[in-house]
Amino acid sequence: EMELLARVNVHYRLAKTIRELEASKKALAEQATTDSLTKLKNRRAFFENGAKALAMARRYLTDLSVILLDIDHFKKINDAYGHSIGDDALMLVAGILMEMSRTEDTVARIGGEEFAILLPDTNRLGTAVLAERIRSAIEREQFIVGDKIVPITTSIGIATFGVDPAESIDQLLGVADNRLYLAKNSGRNRICVN
Ligand code: GH3
Ligand code: MG
Ligand code: MG
Repeated sequence: EMELLARVNVHYRLAKTIRELEASKKALAEQATTDSLTKLKNRRAFFENGAKALAMARRYLTDLSVILLDIDHFKKINDAYGHSIGDDALMLVAGILMEMSRTEDTVARIGGEEFAILLPDTNRLGTAVLAERIRSAIEREQFIVGDKIVPITTSIGIATFGVDPAESIDQLLGVADNRLYLAKNSGRNRICVN
């Protein structure tokens, strides 16, 4: 009887340890793909999901687009109000992006004040419409610091697989980045679609 009890006990503890290991494995994987400030996906997750989405788009001949967004004159917000208020602005923008995207989209912070959204099943027009809605929502948002409303605007570039010359997610993001650069150079607070 004692031996039976001892064996049951060992198996019980083993099962518990395995469950705990599985849970911490899951938590670690989550951590490795999450941006700790905004809780959006991080750069690494963006490229991982991007590679998978590109394979699907090729296989099923579906659309795939990206939106690349950069906050305008973000350095000024940091300089005027401090890094911590700057972080609040990043979280505010992240929240708007999450609100405006679908569950199948990947919303990521891929750089300091640079965000990218991966949009499966979305063509060029749909992407342009969403980009403009996002730009306008961020412009309208009231970012309140003390007794001031601090305006936040963004510049956006977009790109669509199959329409733009790109064979990888990296290249697709490169096309969007060229357009983002054009949006910046032509006055900021605007989207550039081609
Ligand atoms: P532009 O309109 O040309 O994009 O101007 P900008 O000032 O936004 O661009 P720039 O690249 O010169 O500055 C980006 C700033 O973002 C500089 C850096 O200090 C700040 N930054 C990067 N990461 C973080 C962060 O995690 N938190 C905060 N608060 N600031 C950050
Ligand atoms: Mg930038
Ligand atoms: Mg910027």
